[in-house]
Order: sequence, then structure tokens, then C-alpha cells
Amino acid sequence: EGVFSTLSDRLTTVLQGLRGKGRLSDADIDATAREIRVALLEADVALPVVRGFIAKVKERAKGAEVHQALNPAQQVVKIVNEELVNVLGGETRRLNLAKNPPSVIMLAGLQGAGKTTLAGKLAKWLKGQGHTPLLVAADLQRPNAVTQLQVVGERAGVPVFAPEPGNGVGNPVEVSRRGIEEAKAKQHDIVLVDTAGRLGVDEEMMQQAIDIRAAVNPDEVLFVVDAMVGQDAVNTATAFRDGVGFTGVVLTKLDGDARGGAALSVREITGQPILFASNGEKLEDFDVFHPDRMASRILG
Ligand code: GDP
Repeated sequence: EGVFSTLSDRLTTVLQGLRGKGRLSDADIDATAREIRVALLEADVALPVVRGFIAKVKERAKGAEVHQALNPAQQVVKIVNEELVNVLGGETRRLNLAKNPPSVIMLAGLQGAGKTTLAGKLAKWLKGQGHTPLLVAADLQRPNAVTQLQVVGERAGVPVFAPEPGNGVGNPVEVSRRGIEEAKAKQHDIVLVDTAGRLGVDEEMMQQAIDIRAAVNPDEVLFVVDAMVGQDAVNTATAFRDGVGFTGVVLTKLDGDARGGAALSVREITGQPILFASNGEKLEDFDVFHPDRMASRILG
């Protein structure tokens, strides 16, 4: 199960095909690289990412580390694993928090990406780490978004600052600003600002996100992206990078059954690290993203 299952099966099969071979000729390596390339493209990994990945694997596999190895096949597996870790960002990137609380974390992304759900997950996780988060409902676009955040906040045991008459109703920038004031007044050490998305990239939505970012000066802007949306994820990520800008990525719906190669592309395409991953609808279906663990899982 999961968005990488087909890719995982394919890569495992390709690499198992090398087992039992002694020396690997350049032709063997080229053939393997071709099969890996097809597997990545079929999984929806973006073409430039595939190109870079294959070039590195080939270059390294044809070098001394494989030719002088006692077990060339294992050495190739190791190279593929290391290059996957690199594509996924290398080291685990921790959340960047402010020296002087409250830290402000802004969530951005398309409608349906899983932002509101993620807000609850992150709030619960932060609380478990000993923080005292406040959720701020600045998604005033989707009719149910405020109520939905209140529901997840309740489940997470984290208070929600929601607009009410005289408190920024109808104005997400004002709600965000007041949310930060509330956090300061009540000594919350982290503020999570849930913002509005649309079904597609939209100028008005992007401007709103830009205005909220300017108003709350966040320590992190997390771009939330649905791993199941395919190649479109790359276009959306690029639009958000060039629009509001972001400092980190959260992958959602990794438990889905679509091809998740786009999720493998987003770090390389945007240059920003993946911080968290969501893999289900429950608040517990959430974890810190570790590139090395994800690579190992993909390679079986
Ligand atoms: P938002 O519009 O970005 O705030 O998205 P929501 O948080 O409302 O999520 C949209 C839908 O995706 C909801 O039905 C969520 O239950 C679902 N969802 C969110 N995260 C995940 C996930 O990691 N896995 C699965 N399977 N569903 C998710």
C-alpha cells in the first residue's frame, strides 16, 4: 500500500536482477539505469529530477566504488539508495522555531491538500513535544473550514482562535494578526495559521497568502501538498514557491493508491526540504519526514 508501492516493487525487481552477477560491465549498468528511469517516469517523478538522478547513479556506478567492490550488485543498490536520500533532501530537517516565542507557522496549499487536517496533526504532535500551540482559523474561503479546524483542535486538545464579530470576521489577514496577539497574551509558544486554498492556483488566493505572510512574519511557511495529485503537484509547488514562497514542504496522503512520484520531485524542483508526512485521515497518521527512512522503505 501507499503511493510508492508500485515504484518500490519495480525498483526492487530491477535491483534484484543484478544479484549473482560478478563484475558489472558498463552495458549492464546502462541497462539497469534504463530500467530505473522507466520505473521513475511511470511513477510520475518529474523528468528533470529523473534525468539528474539517473545521471548520478550511472556516473557513480561506472566508477571505482563499483568496479573495485567485492559485491558490485550490492554497491549499486547502495548508490541508488544514497541518491534517493539525496533527492528526498538528505538530512532530516527540523522545524525552525523562534528564539523569542511565539513561533509562527503558516500553512499554505491548495484546497483539499489536507491543510486543516495537517493543522490538527501538527498541533497534536507539538503538544506531545511539550509545546503549547494555538491554532488560528484564517481559512475563511471554504465554508466549513473554521468549524473543521475547531473539530480537529478539540480532538488534538489544542485551542482554536476563530474569527467572531468584532474580531476580524471576513478578513483573514486581520484574523491572523489577532491570532498572534492572542497567542502572546495567553503565552502560547507556537501559533499555527491555517490559510485558505483554492482548487487551483489563483491570483487572489496567492495575494491573500502573501498578505498573511507579511502580517504574521512566520518562522516557517509550510507548503502542504497532496502526494496523489501527480505531475500537477510540481506545477503547484512552483507557483507557491514563486508566489507566497515557502520554507518547507509537507506531503499528505502518502497512504493513497495513486502514483506518488510527484512527491519525490518536489524537494528537488523547489529546493525546499520536506519536513513532515501525513499518511491517513486520523490525527495520529503523521510523522516527521526522514529522507533516509523513506528511501529504505521505497527500496524495500
Ligand atoms: P484543506 O482543504 O487543505 O484544508 O484539506 P482538508 O484538511 O480538509 O483535507 C481534505 C480531505 O483529505 C479530507 O477528507 C481529509 O480527511 C483528507 N486527508 C487529509 N490528509 C490525509 C491523508 O494523509 N491521507 C488521507 N487518506 N486523507 C487525508
